[in-house]
Amino acid sequence: MRYFPTFVDVTEVPVVVVGDGEKALQKLRLLTKSEAALTLVSPAPSAELVRFAEAHRVTICREGFAPAQLDGARLVFSAHDCVAIDLAVAEAARVRGIAVNVVDRPHLSTFITPAIVDRDPVTVAIGTEGTAPLIAREIKAMLDVRLPSRLGEVARSAHGLRDRMMTAIRDGRERRRAWQALLNGEWRRAVLKGDDRSAAGIVDQLLADARQADHGPGHVSLVGAGPGDPDLLTLRALERLQDADVIVVDGLVSDAVLDYARRDAERIHVGKTGYGAAVAQDEINAILVREALKGSKVVRLKAGDPFVFGRAVEELRALRAAGIAVDIVPGITAAHACAASIELPMTLRETIRSFALVTGATSEGAPDLDWRALAAPGQASAVYMGVKTAPVLRERLIAAGAKRETPVVIVENGARPNERSVATTLGALPDAIAAHALKAPSIVFIGVHWDMANLTPPARVHHFAPERPDQIADRLERGDRSLAQPPPATPPTATPEGEWSAEDIANATMWIAG
Ligand code: SAH
Repeated sequence: MRYFPTFVDVTEVPVVVVGDGEKALQKLRLLTKSEAALTLVSPAPSAELVRFAEAHRVTICREGFAPAQLDGARLVFSAHDCVAIDLAVAEAARVRGIAVNVVDRPHLSTFITPAIVDRDPVTVAIGTEGTAPLIAREIKAMLDVRLPSRLGEVARSAHGLRDRMMTAIRDGRERRRAWQALLNGEWRRAVLKGDDRSAAGIVDQLLADARQADHGPGHVSLVGAGPGDPDLLTLRALERLQDADVIVVDGLVSDAVLDYARRDAERIHVGKTGYGAAVAQDEINAILVREALKGSKVVRLKAGDPFVFGRAVEELRALRAAGIAVDIVPGITAAHACAASIELPMTLRETIRSFALVTGATSEGAPDLDWRALAAPGQASAVYMGVKTAPVLRERLIAAGAKRETPVVIVENGARPNERSVATTLGALPDAIAAHALKAPSIVFIGVHWDMANLTPPARVHHFAPERPDQIADRLERGDRSLAQPPPATPPTATPEGEWSAEDIANATMWIAG
């Protein structure tokens, strides 16, 4: 094979035709099927040539050939009856390293053009390396009869279906089979007839059948969405989101994260919205099972990490019981995101050897925790859902031996545009929350401070003045028994993630104190 067949992209590529008469017109007819930037060099073009050039955005250069006219061109055609000009064009192109084709003179050409059967974008190129053009023409005639005139439309439509096919049919072999069914069957006939409605119906049916056969009962991914900033999604979470048919979303998941989900995925919101109640857990389980049984790829999107105070276990159990395949995609939990955001370490080589993730609230109210362990030296904790029950946390920890000066940092809406943080002490925790009107979602860090790591807090951290001794004395004088006494037996009840007003907190503080 002396000539290697290739298809060259000529979109907006400068191509020069030096020529005259019918020969030049023939070349231009072929070349104007492409998007090349065409120039015709012709000192005295015929009226027909001018008409054609003007109708097809061909620039005419009405000058005799000069080598500089080829500067910047990538392909050159010489379509002349004048050998001298052909020679000059070939030489000028050679010097400039431009590919040149001299019509009917292969010995002057660096490339030759094939016979073409054009069903754009399906193109058949036939070459005989100049040995027997008649054979090329015979093959072209044969193919012209065999290949339907709208074959290009079939190719174009198939191309338009590629993404849908890719997502709907994951298995490569299955997908090839589906393509064969489309391209050899009713769909192809419908496209060839120009019957777009039938063609679309056939595709829908094929994909629906494939989904049934391919997936059987669907699949659920329990996906951690992180704290709210989409940058903190894992690559796997992103992949699941872009692959999902249905997304079942928690209230705490940010819209910024949802922007990364597949646009046409169905979204079911099951979290608290405004004053509406959250969907009960049993009902969420039922939704997941129902959607998966339809054969859908379901993403259960949960704030932070699904396994950290996320009730993923209940969903996992329900899905397993229904025989549905599940996978779990971890997420960055709120404590980790908040700590990173305010540059607060969670463990320290010498001083903090244990770090606990703690819930500040259960469905029954304040939790029953090992307060002594949490109050122990060398222990730090991140309290989730702790804003409402902060007064109880404070009293229990102090009663268990924690110092009132134990450092505390509260981070509200961590890793979100509206993040706020306040540093204070355990003793002043409820007052700090009230003073800054901090609400859920917040993490309360207890037992860790920048000082312990020889760091300084970022400037945006607010500082709530710890109680001064005179204030404490003042409170003792007013009979605030919480300063000296263990907390009462029954703490106030609270629902997880709820919000207390400053007034609620004041009441609770009084209640505990009183
Ligand atoms: N699975 C989640 C926790 C859900 S419990 C996770 O791993 O993060 C809900 C609690 O998480 C909230 O009350 C709050 O304490 C915490 N939380 C969630 N997102 C938060 C955020 N962006 N900033 C601060 N706290 C957050």
